[in-house]
Amino acid sequence: MNSQFPELVPRLESYATIKTWRERHGRYRMQGSRCKKCNEIWFPSRDALICPKCQSREFIPYECARTGEVLTVQHEIMGYPAMGYGELSPRKIVMIKLDDGVTIISEVVDCAAEEVKPGTKVKMAFRKHKREENGCWMYGYKFVLNK
Ligand SMILES: [Zn+2]
Repeated sequence: MNSQFPELVPRLESYATIKTWRERHGRYRMQGSRCKKCNEIWFPSRDALICPKCQSREFIPYECARTGEVLTVQHEIMGYPAMGYGELSPRKIVMIKLDDGVTIISEVVDCAAEEVKPGTKVKMAFRKHKREENGCWMYGYKFVLNK
């Protein structure tokens, strides 16, 4: 343990550069995929997989709506130090229905816990996600109140 890696619990996942690189469009811009045959939207992206609805293999990139409404809230106070999330607790983990119908799980930041409840309007923001094994911060989408 040192100041750069303050958690006592060892990390469970390893730093996967290739996986991180492949998922960058989803994490930075909430880019999923749309099936060319049946038009269903999938997030995260289903590139190199098949469409569960029509079994097609052809997708086009689709950028999800950046605003939505909170469906459920979980106030998470313990953190997950083993997964790299220990430094950002407490967190407000939410299930969000985006304006285009996609349902995602994310986190609401920059507000008090009492302000986040089912029905709260939120919009996407770019924030720190977690600390990687090499000490770098991973960034990605989170949500803030849409006033
Ligand atoms: Zn399809």
